[in-house]
Amino acid sequence: MQKIGEECGVFGIWSPVRQNLAYMAYYALFALQHRGQEAAGIAVNDDGVFRYHRDLGLVHEVFGKEKLDRLGEGHIAVGHTRYSTSGISNRSNAQPVVVRHIKGSMALCHNGNLVNSLELREELENEGCIFHSTTDTEVISYLITRARLHTASIEEAVNETVNRIHGAFSLVIMSPTKLIAVRDPHGFRPLCYGMCEDGSVVFASESCALDAVGAKLVRDLAPGEIVVADPNGVRSIKDHCGECRPSLCVFEYIYFARPDSVIDGSSVHEARLRAGSFLALEHPVQADVVIGVPDSGLDAALGFARQSGIPYGIGLLKNKYIGRTFISPGQAAREDLVKIKLNPIAETVKGKRVVLIDDSIVRGTTSQRIVKLVRDAGATEVHFRVSSPAFLNPCYYGTDIDSRENLIACQHTNEEIAKMIGADSLGYLSVESAKRLAKGVTSESGFDANGNVASYCAACFDGVYPTEVPESGKDRFEQKIPKEWLERHTKTN
Ligand code: SF4
Repeated sequence: MQKIGEECGVFGIWSPVRQNLAYMAYYALFALQHRGQEAAGIAVNDDGVFRYHRDLGLVHEVFGKEKLDRLGEGHIAVGHTRYSTSGISNRSNAQPVVVRHIKGSMALCHNGNLVNSLELREELENEGCIFHSTTDTEVISYLITRARLHTASIEEAVNETVNRIHGAFSLVIMSPTKLIAVRDPHGFRPLCYGMCEDGSVVFASESCALDAVGAKLVRDLAPGEIVVADPNGVRSIKDHCGECRPSLCVFEYIYFARPDSVIDGSSVHEARLRAGSFLALEHPVQADVVIGVPDSGLDAALGFARQSGIPYGIGLLKNKYIGRTFISPGQAAREDLVKIKLNPIAETVKGKRVVLIDDSIVRGTTSQRIVKLVRDAGATEVHFRVSSPAFLNPCYYGTDIDSRENLIACQHTNEEIAKMIGADSLGYLSVESAKRLAKGVTSESGFDANGNVASYCAACFDGVYPTEVPESGKDRFEQKIPKEWLERHTKTN
């Protein structure tokens, strides 16, 4: 199924006492599995000794009991789930990136994509740096370790590095004695922090990972904020706050994040209900039942039903034991997986005019198959509603939105797309409504739930990029690396 993938989930924990943090990180990564299913990794710091393991696969495939017991106890740990939008999918690109340098060791986890990574990598290579992966995360690790040579502390080195890197980065960094979390000055990707009852400090991409380890959400990091946890407590560095207009990715609310997470003070579940409700107002239709495509279309369908008064029904059942199928190899396998993944409930749709809600349309072929499933189950009409605006532009901030020639909305009108996917009508959420999904944001208020100016990135929909973007297209190292090298590493790793 053509779904959009995001880069990663990050997690970190600092504990006042030595305890089994490998298992804590493991539980948190389970909660963040939806953010990346290609690779996973954990590093545990036991009094300055770093033990780590990372590999390709889902969290439960990468970590068995033996591996976790070997990682064992410590007082700081970081973890990562990866989906590759920068760097190919191989073992050497898995995270955490762990480096040993003259001032100690460091483990780094990154969610997002830099827009200036190619220039930085070239600069570093010209200075003699040798890269072991094709990720922009390794670039960040080099910059921090280089800055550490002339700064008094790791947090100063991180603060200096933030001046050099542009784009999307939510980072969790472990040093021998400190845990540091960084959210880029635009705040593209979420990053929150919480506390456990025993005083442990936890950072995670989403609050659902805090819940998984029994931590209470304290707050989200502000865009540009650096938070340091160590034996002296928790302190915040705000030198980069306010440098840019906030630009949280609106697609976090629509699709990426788990509905039980709260991002920048707004429940993702409620944001999706709002998306459905806005859709019902923007694209009303006479129908008998509203159904959603699991998972993220379900909340929007409920919101549509409540707003329109049309009954809500469960019309498609998802096989829970299949992961997000975009990681499946080969186009043919992906096509078969639509049927395996989704099955219609005929009793809900038979003889009825159906409103069918999904979170996005990419190329249109998946939507076409889902519409056919519902029609074959007996629906008399299928009205397709999309809880996001139409994709018209690529993303440079850590999401694998296709190039324009592969995006159906760039090539066809709504009427043509409706015909192509076999729907009786089609309606997308407007960009303006997508920017009002967070709690408390109205055209009048202009503020989010935290009282901050509500401004979001919606560039893949409206083409307004919050940063400069690479002229050469997506900033991928592979384009500059000999094909044979890539093939060798993809095969052998
Ligand atoms: S371009 Fe789209 S997917 Fe990328 S960060 Fe902006 S809103 Fe999110």
